[in-house]
Amino acid sequence: MTGSVDASSETTDLPAGSTEPLMAEGLLVRGTAVDDPAFVGVAERDVFLAVDIGGTKMEVGLVDASGLVLDRVRTATPETSDPEVLFDGLCRIIEEVLSRSTVLPSICGVGCGGPMESGGRTVSPLNIPGWRGFPLQGRLDGHLGLPVVVDNDAKALALGEGWIGAARGQSNYLAMVVSTGVGGGVVLDGRLLDGSGGNAGHIGHLVVEPQGRMCVCGGQGCLEAEASGTAIAAITGHPASEADIAMRRRCGTLVGRAVASVANLLDLQLAVVAGSVALGYGEEFFAAAQAEIDLRCGLDFARSTRIERAGLGADGPLVGAAAVARRYLMVMEDGGR
Ligand SMILES: [Zn+2]
Repeated sequence: MTGSVDASSETTDLPAGSTEPLMAEGLLVRGTAVDDPAFVGVAERDVFLAVDIGGTKMEVGLVDASGLVLDRVRTATPETSDPEVLFDGLCRIIEEVLSRSTVLPSICGVGCGGPMESGGRTVSPLNIPGWRGFPLQGRLDGHLGLPVVVDNDAKALALGEGWIGAARGQSNYLAMVVSTGVGGGVVLDGRLLDGSGGNAGHIGHLVVEPQGRMCVCGGQGCLEAEASGTAIAAITGHPASEADIAMRRRCGTLVGRAVASVANLLDLQLAVVAGSVALGYGEEFFAAAQAEIDLRCGLDFARSTRIERAGLGADGPLVGAAAVARRYLMVMEDGGR
């Protein structure tokens, strides 16, 4: 991948209520050759309506069949306990993208914070308190009149990174987001793991410090409770972006500890990591994570496990959301599985 976005362009927090068209950023030149054998089944004309919903921002874009982001609009996630205000905010930026598009997307893919009921029938993102059991898939389907496919945002990233990012061509890998929260998605034997309810990959809730901080999930010492941006801000009393070197390394070490457990469990040797905390901490984070992995991956098959920066940068969430829809089309082409 030659078109990777520099880590410095990772999305940052926006003031509440701002709406920011980012067409120039979305037109980043990227190798668009479609040489992935898995690509059959997705028509070249397909354009995906891509929706990413996070605790800080919501973003909507159009992504073509090669993974190129054609247009995008983002807005700060409304801080509200009213589920309809959240949904209205989302619909507003969807309308903005669709109103200036000359092509009609054939399908909508959504990446949303977890947990959720399978297929996004209902979503209850930990970092969006206004949505608890919100029927996102059905509401969007009804609003758009398009097929809508919803999945966890970190699973979406895993699909996107395997499609045209840092895990392209890999059959076994973990993709992670370390930002406000910590999420993950696992591809094993070439297939994204769903689990019984679609929630496989919640690496943020692996225990890395048994006597550690209480977690929003009810557990103690979870990776998310120790190494997420929210946790670091709570521990230090300052925004995570201002953490000192020791805290940056600690974050990397704890992420490496969780990655090592996954690598040992699943016989995968690659973790690609996105998110403003990991990418913002840069080499201090990644070197500490790799050192911890090297320390804890002693079995022969796990020794070569490495942790790397995700390849899609600021495009990751939208490309991932498009990849959720793309995966659905490919499964349909195969007659389901
Ligand atoms: Zn937890």
